[in-house]
Amino acid sequence: MTIYDDARQLEDELAAFRAELHADPEIGLQLPRTQARVLRELEPLGLEISVGRATTSVVAVLRGGARDERQPRAVLLRADMDALPVRERTGLDFASENGAMHACGHDLHTASLIGAARLLHHHRDRLAGDVVFMFQPGEEGYDGAGVMVNEGVLDAAGYRVCAAFAIHVLSAGLPNGVVSTRSGPVMSSSQRLLVRVDGQGGHGSMPHRAKDPITAAAEMVTSLQSTVTRSFDVFDPVVVTVGQFQAGTRHNVIPDHAEFAATLRTFSTENSAKIRADLERTLRGVADAHDVGVDVRFEEETLLTVNDEFEAGFAADVARSVLGEHSYRPMPHPLAASEDFSRVLTHVPGAFLTLGATPPGMDPATAPNNHSAYAVFDPAVLPKAAALYAELALRRLEHESA
Ligand SMILES: [Zn+2]
Repeated sequence: MTIYDDARQLEDELAAFRAELHADPEIGLQLPRTQARVLRELEPLGLEISVGRATTSVVAVLRGGARDERQPRAVLLRADMDALPVRERTGLDFASENGAMHACGHDLHTASLIGAARLLHHHRDRLAGDVVFMFQPGEEGYDGAGVMVNEGVLDAAGYRVCAAFAIHVLSAGLPNGVVSTRSGPVMSSSQRLLVRVDGQGGHGSMPHRAKDPITAAAEMVTSLQSTVTRSFDVFDPVVVTVGQFQAGTRHNVIPDHAEFAATLRTFSTENSAKIRADLERTLRGVADAHDVGVDVRFEEETLLTVNDEFEAGFAADVARSVLGEHSYRPMPHPLAASEDFSRVLTHVPGAFLTLGATPPGMDPATAPNNHSAYAVFDPAVLPKAAALYAELALRRLEHESA
């Protein structure tokens, strides 16, 4: 019996647990009901369990039966547990009715990692090291992973883990059951840009006696797009989107100030470092040209998620070997979304994998995407994800001790 065979025996139980999570989603860093359910599922396994101080995270450590006492090794497996403020419209019989929705499939991640814990506990005699199970709240913009890293999840086994893996299901874009990843950047970095233009108000009929912040700010918005196309390699994209612009109170009054805010996405370490200086230079230049003041602020939201070359290749080999040769597809380019698993991958090598979960009968090219109120995920992928998590840990520890 392979681990995947064992995982298939768990399919109904994992699907039932996932449906229970799905019907009662929680948002952000405080997920008390979800945490209680995860603790209930882990309880019979007798793992070393700790819960977050600042959040409702859960960390469980499984000690392998074949661990080397003198040189212990551990692998970390991550599942996020939080939902989104989306009113569900899937029509599923276990659909959420509380105004939140597991629209990003984190309920499947949580159930899969519980499955992996059960599988690895069952096969613990074969485990050449320890496994840290990281159940994280607040992935959707709350930096739950950052909080857990600060609270010591990477050293939960008593020493630093040697590798970390996360799996993310997709309701569209990949065929059902297909795993995909890549070496290097896998998800974009995200930053917020806040700009305040300080002019001098006046009468709309006499702009020469004022300093109009609106024309300057409008030119800044278009100049930012020129900077993107003129300063960055077309094959290493940068996205700058101004989503907010505020100024003025009346059509014939020049206001004192104008403000706008943008989201910035980059897909390489080079551009993540370069973008701030380039955009700031453009903004200051336009401000000088208009003789207005400008206040420029950048706020980091999510780091670039970078897969380690060895770990990404290793994970791809495990996926092919566990789920079949046809079940792996290399990812051609990074995904234009952001992930706080990046917090883990800045400290330890690892890989972030995606897993296609478009339900049968739906076309992955047109199915509603993750975060949509209509997004549906096929629970049949649960044993695949559970087996993949478990085999990643088992084989990575075997590799380390070989
Ligand atoms: Zn997600």
